[in-house]
Amino acid sequence: MQEKRELINKLTKEHTLSFIEWKKLLQNPEKETAEYLRTCARKVTDRVFGRQVYVRGLIEFTNICKKDCYYCGIRKSNSCVERYRLTEEEILSCCQEGYEAGLRTFVLQGGEDGYFTEERLCTLVSEIHKRYPDCAITLSVGEWEKESYERFYAAGAERFLLRQETANEEHYGKLHPGNQKYSTRIECLENLKEIGYQTGCGFLVGSPYQTIDCIIEDLLFLERFRPQMVGIGPFLPAKNTPFEAEKAGSSELTLFLLSAIRLMLPEVLLPATTALGTARSDGRLQGLLHGANVIMPNLSPVRVREKYALYDNKVHSGNEAAEHLDALRAELAKENFTVAISRGDAPGFAK
Ligand code: SAM
Repeated sequence: MQEKRELINKLTKEHTLSFIEWKKLLQNPEKETAEYLRTCARKVTDRVFGRQVYVRGLIEFTNICKKDCYYCGIRKSNSCVERYRLTEEEILSCCQEGYEAGLRTFVLQGGEDGYFTEERLCTLVSEIHKRYPDCAITLSVGEWEKESYERFYAAGAERFLLRQETANEEHYGKLHPGNQKYSTRIECLENLKEIGYQTGCGFLVGSPYQTIDCIIEDLLFLERFRPQMVGIGPFLPAKNTPFEAEKAGSSELTLFLLSAIRLMLPEVLLPATTALGTARSDGRLQGLLHGANVIMPNLSPVRVREKYALYDNKVHSGNEAAEHLDALRAELAKENFTVAISRGDAPGFAK
């Protein structure tokens, strides 16, 4: 315990640990270690962001996908999914609803759906940008050529979320079919950063075949890559996928890692994700209490929320929904958090 405490102190002060040190910290963490890590992480979050929580309206605009990730419920080969695609008008009315509720960031997330060509996405992004010039637009639409990323950026998208999923190439190969290459994923992330996006990466916690060493490689990758945002969440099994019978990732470990990431990257934007909120009913609040500072209320039309089923039992009608922002505010106020009505840019990117 004493040794782990010292490692946490080092991480707080120097924002770095070696592979061996991470291994010591991550192996069988006791309750007291986790609590000490959490307290240090929350202190840093309070210093950098105060008790303000940034909110992003999440619009899951299509569940049609040409990729076949083994863990994902909306993978191409899952023929049991009822597929949907929102129209441009529907997406714009989600933005209007979100704007009225006080949201100033829209996250457009979807499968890699051939209908949404570069041209259509650019038209959509510029229309949102024109209608809501005080809002930030985040895209989470997977892998594209650098030129396409440049055009989305020119159209008004300033942020992009693309998790590496795992920073261990061999492990990546066990989670994806052979035509989905780890090198492409990483190249995409590097391109996004070079273009000037506030770039988000991240990984699944407890995905099949993941070892502690894989997790450490993810942490070292984050340290090297220096993203503006990091999304992590527990792997949750999804019906009719190759991993449907696998064990879910641990929410305790996810919380532990959120705290560790906060200490390593004090200024990073760190969401308490929907997967964490699905794994345990207090997941998002616990995420904030462990050093997260972002939540992403669901702005998608209610009728499609269940269909964007990346995993089983996804929460879809509680306080994670954008129409329940007031209830969310009240829930967070109990822990002294306030919901910011702002774009919530990464430090150094503020407009
Ligand atoms: N297509 C885009 C991409 O690949 O980045 C965005 C959509 S993708 C469905 C969004 C994220 O969902 C992925 O990065 C992955 O980490 C997460 N996800 C997918 N299946 C999951 C599962 N079974 N459990 C937890 N998270 C999952």
